[in-house]
Amino acid sequence: MKVFHTIRELDLPWGNPIGFVPTMGALHEGHLSLIRRAKEVTGYAVVSIFVNPTQFGPNEDFTRYPRPIERDLELAETAGAAAVLIPDVGEIYGPDQVWVRVDGVTELWEGEWRPGHFEGVATVVAKLFNIVRPTDAFFGTKDLQQCAVVESMIRGLKMPIRFHREPTYREPDGLALSSRNRYLSEQERTTAAHLPRSLRDLLLDIEAGKVLDQVLYEQRSELQQAGFDVQYLAYVDATKLAPLTRFEPSGRAIVAAKLGATRLIDNLGHGESF
Ligand code: AMP
Repeated sequence: MKVFHTIRELDLPWGNPIGFVPTMGALHEGHLSLIRRAKEVTGYAVVSIFVNPTQFGPNEDFTRYPRPIERDLELAETAGAAAVLIPDVGEIYGPDQVWVRVDGVTELWEGEWRPGHFEGVATVVAKLFNIVRPTDAFFGTKDLQQCAVVESMIRGLKMPIRFHREPTYREPDGLALSSRNRYLSEQERTTAAHLPRSLRDLLLDIEAGKVLDQVLYEQRSELQQAGFDVQYLAYVDATKLAPLTRFEPSGRAIVAAKLGATRLIDNLGHGESF
């Protein structure tokens, strides 16, 4: 596995399929499933590890975000990565100040609760796409709105990249793997499993024909009783994340909630089990 620290030294088999998995490191099985998939589809998986400062809000966890780089390199190699890029902030952001703004799909949900977040995401992903020049990009459905934003950016900027939405990797109790799960206390970790269960119950109730507003109210109350501070809980379409008013086979339940100081997000579609 090749490891590159600067853009200048980057040497990839351009002209052949290249599968790209952008990450912020602290790799877990969710990331590794994307790397395996990128290798399976394209034969050549490139991973970037970059904790992107511009997608963190002023009171978020940028400085304390975990950076276990040696372990990440071992895990990436085991999962089959052919190359890893670990650029530094100065090289990505200096000296020109250029920003990518995606309208529409960024307005609701994460966009509302994390102002500026998606501008940071779109900007860094556009830069990384230009540096790595992949034929295919692999993102986790765990970050559903991020998928929709990057898909919109690819279409809008006419980028010649195939986008792959990959399934969410979960713990046996349903909790979606996340680098932020390590912030949870033992008790919070147990409580966290309520999140995917609530999404599943919500979808089952919608399938059973219950009134949507009632179902959303009930599940929100259940999460609050379990100790969550619910920021949003909604039933939306999978592409634009627009709220739905009744059952759609491709509809998805989405949630963001805080457990103590830790903010968790998740989403689930009909028929997805854990
Ligand atoms: P991050 O390092 O959090 O920026 O995530 C890097 C990529 O891994 C993104 O495309 C995420 O959606 C994806 N990812 C994060 N958690 C999971 C998970 N549990 N299952 C699958 N993909 C994930």
